[in-house]
Amino acid sequence: MSDCLFCRIVARQHPADIEYEDDAVLAFKDIYPKAPVHILVIPKRHISSIAQLEPGDADLIGRCFVAARSIGEAKGFGEKGYRINVNTGPEGGQVVYHVHFHFTAGRQRGPAA
Ligand code: 5GP
Ligand code: ZN
Repeated sequence: MSDCLFCRIVARQHPADIEYEDDAVLAFKDIYPKAPVHILVIPKRHISSIAQLEPGDADLIGRCFVAARSIGEAKGFGEKGYRINVNTGPEGGQVVYHVHFHFTAGRQRGPAA
């Protein structure tokens, strides 16, 4: 069994409130939301960090953004807008080492921290 939390969520070995799924991408609610809507969008295939990306990962990362766009539309934020953040490495605030995109929406905030 993988010791990666998000791989366990993909494998349904750990509970999550799933918002979107296709063959390559999974999205689920962040357990500690920092905005009224806070969803994590992840590639199903394990990539530990943006810092570990390889050229062959480009399509998969693009799929995550297309999925985020679909989530934004489905939740009614297509026009109002939303934010997509990715933390990378220890000084970038990354805690879970499986690439994930924070989709946040539902309130005005200042510039991304
Ligand atoms: P990071 O700091 O690595 O960019 O973000 C990790 C995110 O994962 C945090 O926002 C945190 O709230 C979320 N998280 C941590 N553990 C769990 C969990 O077990 N389930 C879910 N749904 N989110 C989690
Ligand atoms: Zn993983």
